[in-house]
Amino acid sequence: MPRLVILGTAAAVPDAVHENTYMALDGAHGAILIDCAGSPIGRLERAGIPLNMLHAVIITHIHPDHSYGLPSLLMSLWLLGRHEPLPIYAPPATCQRLRTIMDAFEWDDWPHFYPVEFVPVNDDAPVLDNEDFTITAASSNHFVETIGLKVVSKATDRALVYTSDTAPVDSITQLAQGVDLLVHEAAGATRGHSSAGMAGRVARLAQVGRLVLVHYQVYVDPAALLADARSEFDGPIDVAQDFAEYEI
Ligand SMILES: [Zn+2]
Ligand SMILES: [Zn+2]
Repeated sequence: MPRLVILGTAAAVPDAVHENTYMALDGAHGAILIDCAGSPIGRLERAGIPLNMLHAVIITHIHPDHSYGLPSLLMSLWLLGRHEPLPIYAPPATCQRLRTIMDAFEWDDWPHFYPVEFVPVNDDAPVLDNEDFTITAASSNHFVETIGLKVVSKATDRALVYTSDTAPVDSITQLAQGVDLLVHEAAGATRGHSSAGMAGRVARLAQVGRLVLVHYQVYVDPAALLADARSEFDGPIDVAQDFAEYEI
C-alpha cells in the first residue's frame, strides 16, 4: 500500500524530538521526498525507504527549514555510490537559489557526481506523473514563492494535499477540495502562516476526510492545537508526530 511518512513536524525551530517539517511518499515503484530538512539519510532509513528507491525531490520553497538538508542529501547519495539521475522539482527562483547553494559547496568538483536536474515548477501546473503518483501544484500565500502539492495515488485513487507554508488562500482550499488527507501547516496566525483553527476551517470548506497538522510550534500543547482545529472541523484530526504514517 502506498504511504506518506511524515519525517518531521516542527515549524522553523526544531527540538530534540521534532525535525522541521518534511515528508516522503513511498510507492511500489519508488519514493519521492517532499522538502528536505534535518537529516534525510537517517530519517529515510528509519522510515524503511531504501535510498536507491529515492526517485525525486520536491522543494516547496527556499526557506531554510524546508531546504537546508538538500546539500547533505546530495553529497551523501554521491558518497554512497549513487549513479542514477535525481530530478529536483521546485518553483523557478527556488531552483536558481538551490543551484547557487550547491555552487557554494563547489559540487562541480565532486568526481563522478550523478546527474542532478533542477526542474522548475510553475503554479497551478503538473509537477510530476510517474507509475505511483500524479502530483500537481498550486501557489501558497507565503513570503516567498511557495507551492502546495496535491498527490493522487494511482494504486488506490486516494488523494492528499500538503499546504507547505501558507496563510489561508483560495488556491490551496480549491486544491484540497474533497481530498482524503489534508496535511496543513499550523505555525500560528502570523503573516504568511496559519493557525490550527485556520487549518480546521480549510478542512471544513474543502470537505476533506482527515486533517493532519504539521509545521507547528513545538512548545505549544498538542491538545491546544487539536482544540483550535476542532472548533472549525468536526472530522478526524491528528497533531502529527515525527514518523507518523498514512496510507494513501
Ligand atoms: Zn516553514
Ligand atoms: Zn517558509
